[in-house]
Amino acid sequence: MNYKQALTHPIFKVISQSAKELQLDTYVIGGFVRDYILQRGSAKDIDIVAIGSGIELAKQVAKNLPNKPKVQVFKTYGTAMLRFEDIEIEFVGARKESYNENSRNPIVENGTLEDDQNRRDFTINALAIDLSLENFGELLDPFNGIQDLKDAIIRTPLSPDITYSDDPLRMMRAIRFASQLDFKIEEESLKAISRNKERINIITKERIVVELNKIIESPKPSIGFILLEKTGLLSYILPELTALKGIDEIEGQRHKDNFYHTLEVVDNISKNTDNLWLRWAALLHDIGKAPTKKFHKKIGWTFHGHEFKGSKMVYQLFKRLKMPLNEKMKFVQKMVLMSSRPIVLAEDMVTDSAVRRLVFDAGDYVEDLMLLCEADITTKNPKRFKKYHNNFKIVRKKIVEVEERDQIRNFQPPISGEVIMETFNLKPCREIGAIKEVIKEAILEGDIPNEYEAAYQLMLKEGERLGLKASK
Ligand code: ATP
Ligand code: MG
Repeated sequence: MNYKQALTHPIFKVISQSAKELQLDTYVIGGFVRDYILQRGSAKDIDIVAIGSGIELAKQVAKNLPNKPKVQVFKTYGTAMLRFEDIEIEFVGARKESYNENSRNPIVENGTLEDDQNRRDFTINALAIDLSLENFGELLDPFNGIQDLKDAIIRTPLSPDITYSDDPLRMMRAIRFASQLDFKIEEESLKAISRNKERINIITKERIVVELNKIIESPKPSIGFILLEKTGLLSYILPELTALKGIDEIEGQRHKDNFYHTLEVVDNISKNTDNLWLRWAALLHDIGKAPTKKFHKKIGWTFHGHEFKGSKMVYQLFKRLKMPLNEKMKFVQKMVLMSSRPIVLAEDMVTDSAVRRLVFDAGDYVEDLMLLCEADITTKNPKRFKKYHNNFKIVRKKIVEVEERDQIRNFQPPISGEVIMETFNLKPCREIGAIKEVIKEAILEGDIPNEYEAAYQLMLKEGERLGLKASK
């Protein structure tokens, strides 16, 4: 079959022409071809392989493009990249790679197209379309990748033990593609992951996290996490999650399996948000439960303080995986720390003051927190399910009311420290903070409105109680 129709973008004609000028056989390969056949929308990156120098080809293409884009050369990898419109085009020379047991770094030699296809990770990623003027659009599919695409199957082109052992990250990539595309991993390719799982240890954390994030960003992340767990990879990457597995029973009392509960929460939230970090928060919201789990004769299983413990573990985990220790991490920590707060509301009466405290503590993230808590409702009891969701609706309505009336979000105290000092003729001292705290508490409790005059009166009263004299 001819795939000319995949090559309607004007860039392909320019690449063809440039390849002819340099007398290089050239192909578009990998993700672009796969996603075209799957009709996954227009590509943002295109991989070009040349039988010869990819860098020379990139330079020639840039010369032939009207806007003469800059070519970025990565000498160590023998690759080059340029941007055209909103597309990144990566050029590489076809290569043959051979690995030895103890080294992660392959010996790289120039190769044929077949050599290059052999070193690709999966049959569906080894598809190539010819860009030569003579055979423009011809598909080269040595491993029957088209059939695997139709059957929704991930399969390594060579023996999976070889493919994974050459680059163990491919085990994660297999699971990532299964999760992203909702494909099955072919049996041998799957079994080999379990056999080779330990080799994941030689891969840098940064590369692992790229694939992990893609699993988390997929439409139904549980597909990926169940595979990570079943193959045994998960305990090397996120032991905090494997620790949540299982149900204990003592004296007839059981708790839920917090691993599968967590996956349900992540799937739920993924229907409502594409925010990677909020999805991370869902994934980690219960990790504190493993180390805080206790059994008490009278009350059964408890996980006291698991939110606090969990938020501390978030830092350790991000650090171990070399993830950013910035405001994204702090956001995940905050979500984990507060993850039970709205639940308490949903189980109980929703009071105004509880809602005000929630908005005060969550600040700008109150909407994210609500999404997390709604996703956290995984009860199979339809009555309870309905009750919790209804209560969250009330919480949401009250959040809006509280916002309009009390301006609690990004709370600024209506009485400043300066006013207190002036009124009572004070130098900086403990009492100022104490008075401010009383005013804040009264506002959150709803005893006074969030207004200057009411706060001023309360300040006078509190000052008197503390034995301070107001200067007239
Ligand atoms: P996406 O861009 O959607 O994440 P992709 O398949 O394009 O998916 P890339 O990481 O962009 O993935 O890689 C482009 C191509 O390079 C792949 O399709 C595959 O042929 C090859 N490739 C990438 N990483 C590996 C690897 N670790 N081992 C073997 N081949 C790889
Ligand atoms: Mg790609």
